[in-house]
Amino acid sequence: MSHKAHCLILPYPIQGHINPMLQFSKRLQSKNVKITIAATKFFLQTMQELSTPVSIEAISDGYDDGGIYQAESFAAYITRFKEVGSDTMSQLIETLTTRGYPVNCIVYDPFLPWAVEVAKKYGLACAAFFTQSCAVDNIYYHVHKGVLKLPPTEVDEEISIPGLVTIESSDVPSFVSTPESARALEMLVNQFSNLEKIDWVLINSFYELEKEVTDWMSKLYPIKTIGPTIPSVYLDKRLPDDKEYGLSIFKPMTNECLNWLNHQPISSVVYVSFGSLTKLEPEQMEELAWGLKNSNKNFLWVVRSTEESKLPKNFLEELKLASENKGLVVSWCPQLQVLEHKSVGCFLTHCGWNSTLEAISLGVPMVAMPQWSDQPTNAKLVEDVWEMGVKAKQDEKGLVRREVIEECIRIVMEEEKGKMIKENTKKWKELARNAVDEGGSSDRNIEEFVSKLLTISY
Ligand code: UDP
Repeated sequence: MSHKAHCLILPYPIQGHINPMLQFSKRLQSKNVKITIAATKFFLQTMQELSTPVSIEAISDGYDDGGIYQAESFAAYITRFKEVGSDTMSQLIETLTTRGYPVNCIVYDPFLPWAVEVAKKYGLACAAFFTQSCAVDNIYYHVHKGVLKLPPTEVDEEISIPGLVTIESSDVPSFVSTPESARALEMLVNQFSNLEKIDWVLINSFYELEKEVTDWMSKLYPIKTIGPTIPSVYLDKRLPDDKEYGLSIFKPMTNECLNWLNHQPISSVVYVSFGSLTKLEPEQMEELAWGLKNSNKNFLWVVRSTEESKLPKNFLEELKLASENKGLVVSWCPQLQVLEHKSVGCFLTHCGWNSTLEAISLGVPMVAMPQWSDQPTNAKLVEDVWEMGVKAKQDEKGLVRREVIEECIRIVMEEEKGKMIKENTKKWKELARNAVDEGGSSDRNIEEFVSKLLTISY
């Protein structure tokens, strides 16, 4: 196939950022755009599956043997990534040109704003790809502008930000509310540092979900919502049955999960996952384990191998011995296949943005148990704005107790409020599908992006 445009995609090398950018890349490729993903050498080494139809080329973050884990500090990682990354991206652009595939646009993760300088050096078009919600981006924008100054003086201080519902200080991303996260916040705020020089700001969300905030942000930047970036087969049943989901750091226990789910009654299972990075306090893990067990519901719980030692003593053994097969603990699962399974009735989630969008797109009611980063804001929206779930309240130690977990699961799966939530999930699922369907808001934005790319193509 001869391509008319070539995008070089630069993700920040973590699971939750690579996934949406890869899915977006696949959509662009289906519209006849050539794609090359620039991935760090260390990320490529850690990959479990490399089954993806798009080309991947290596660049370096300066830490080829350990990535961020090898760096002395987060600040050192970001600084070295800028230096070495700029050089190796430049080399890659030159190599691709020599091979006969000149690049004409860089789509970069705004965690790596130096990519704009690389694009400018070669006269390329440039798009930032925000992997978080528009609401969260708006909060970071207001910190960037110096309008939002935290930490709060009161625990539940109310915060008004244009385009957003009133939130409390506990709903803002943890990097804003906790002074210890100054370095991470600096990176998040720096996402806006080069935006006035670029052509598009792409956001992994959809217009109908975040209308007001998208309209408000669009006055500042050339915003295009292009999500949800989940494989189209999950949104459109007419497509061939291709469940491939691309690059994963962890190995999913596919058959074990799906076989087990196949034997559970419809809508009976609580699916529990805290994503790829979040670590729970041992005490929280214990409360969660007993909360799930006491809920008396069937549960499928993803406990990454690095978290397993925090499970209560004998918990796994007792689960296996139980006469009824109430719970299954796995180290990683094919989450989209799990969420779309008819046995799953509730998703107990940390509210990472990908997980939240996946639950919205597949219509699964949520119990939100946010821990850090953007999760508190997402949880607030899930509960109060989209009314797709309930948020589990933390105690003064910041822990969610077993009784609270049990109660939240009961509300979502049994009570009248749960029925209302279920109705709302149907509505949002439909809107998510419409957005990416032909002629939908995200599809139109992608089409516009591609047509513009073609006008500046080689
Ligand atoms: N995920 C998965 N299997 C699991 C747990 C998570 O495939 O067992 C995927 C999930 O579908 C999502 C990503 O990992 O796409 C997690 O991203 P999210 O933004 O929700 O959380 P993060 O890992 O960034 O905290």
